[in-house]
Amino acid sequence: KVRVRYAPSPTGFLHIGNAQSALFNYLFARHFNGTMVLRIEDTDTKRNVKDGEESQRENLHWLGIDWDEGPNKPNPKYAPYRQSERNKKGIYHKYIQELLDKGLAYKDYSTEEELAEMRERQRANNEAPHYDGRWYGKSKEEQKAAEAKGLKPTIRFHLPKDHEYEWNDIARGHVSFNSDNLGGDFIIEKSDGMPTYNFAVVVDDHTMDITHVLRGADHISNTPKQIAIYEALGWEHPTFCHIPLIFNPKTRKKLSKRDKDTLQFISEYKKHGYLHEAIFNFIAFLGWSPVGEREIYSKDELIKVYDPKRMSKAPAYFDQKKLDWMNAQYIKSMSVEELTDRTMELVKEGETEEAKRLQSIPEEQLKNLIMKTIHVHQRDVNKLLEVIEYVWSYYNVLDENFNYDLIKDNEDFNNDDVLAVLTGLKEKLENGADDYSQAIKEVGKATGVKGRGLYFPLNLAFTGSTSAPQIYEIMDIYSRDTDIELLDRMIK
Ligand code: GLU
Repeated sequence: KVRVRYAPSPTGFLHIGNAQSALFNYLFARHFNGTMVLRIEDTDTKRNVKDGEESQRENLHWLGIDWDEGPNKPNPKYAPYRQSERNKKGIYHKYIQELLDKGLAYKDYSTEEELAEMRERQRANNEAPHYDGRWYGKSKEEQKAAEAKGLKPTIRFHLPKDHEYEWNDIARGHVSFNSDNLGGDFIIEKSDGMPTYNFAVVVDDHTMDITHVLRGADHISNTPKQIAIYEALGWEHPTFCHIPLIFNPKTRKKLSKRDKDTLQFISEYKKHGYLHEAIFNFIAFLGWSPVGEREIYSKDELIKVYDPKRMSKAPAYFDQKKLDWMNAQYIKSMSVEELTDRTMELVKEGETEEAKRLQSIPEEQLKNLIMKTIHVHQRDVNKLLEVIEYVWSYYNVLDENFNYDLIKDNEDFNNDDVLAVLTGLKEKLENGADDYSQAIKEVGKATGVKGRGLYFPLNLAFTGSTSAPQIYEIMDIYSRDTDIELLDRMIK
């Protein structure tokens, strides 16, 4: 029975790279009818951030990723799910002790200064940095002497010499590392008594019966160390799959939190009005693709067609254009009602000046304005934030100063025609015309003005720009009084 896990460290908020790991674990679990576990790797206490875990969970939920076991859904057989709590229960220490007893691990009393000196010497000699094993095989007396000086040891795992660690990676095929190239005996318990990542992850994956480990390719060099621990404890290791990293196409390097030109946190995509369905779809294509050319897949379809054998080995380049295109596809296919609800929510959660002012509009009026705006712009926006910008501009239309001079005395336009069109339509509105499209046509007929001559002045009157989508729809966004006022302003 398949058991997979997503194991975030609460050292930051949900990043697209984290989301990608979570998502492939989720697809894997759901495709194979397995169990998805959420485990919190919080042993690096200095780096943990407040609300890190909470925001990870919230954003995973928003993306549509859920799990069967985790801190909030414990299975008594495997709980607890936070490493700090597991450590308190002595889960790790038990196995550390076992390795110490077998002579496969040992205490290292080196001071920070000594280790720095060692690294310095290795650098000067052009050696690859490694721990030189200076405390391996030391006697009880030497350890006691160090204790007497008040030194607190770390515990290191003793690597065998010239040993090959290999595995068959779902994404990468056969991978192997020699034990001599792993930087020497590595720390499995820090001097504060906390296990290191490489140790805790092995104990947890084993004791939680994890069958497949899908994680970012940045962990490849950790995997041989973990296999070494599996071997030392006489355990079988799970199947590994190292998910391709996401690259920034400009730097051609791993997407970094410092790359300011790219949205990277899931909360940011949400704030910009990307739809969670589109983000899910987009991320599923970062490092994986189904057979064929089709790119729009719902979550359920992805679960169905997901095939881990198609995980790629090459990095996945983040393609902003594709993301916007994909989001636009989802916007086009969604009902106006649904889009309205989501835009309302976005406005309610907005923190900008504009959002704050829109929040003060009575709910029904705001909803109506949003709905009408979506009706006009559903076909031409990429994200809901653009809808809000339109809503904002329509809401504020009377505050802005649309400039008649833009077409006044322009040789393309005849001033008399412009005036005739504007007053013609104004009269129709004053006389109660309901069908704006029809009214505009009639004005065209009555004045004999056609095409740009007819539409540009109207576009300008109602939007401040000569090019606009169906202007009769925009007229419908405003009240009749506002429409008349806008025409009047141009006429004066
Ligand atoms: N806590 C690790 C991380 O956030 C998990 C790595 C793993 O899945 O083994 O990178």
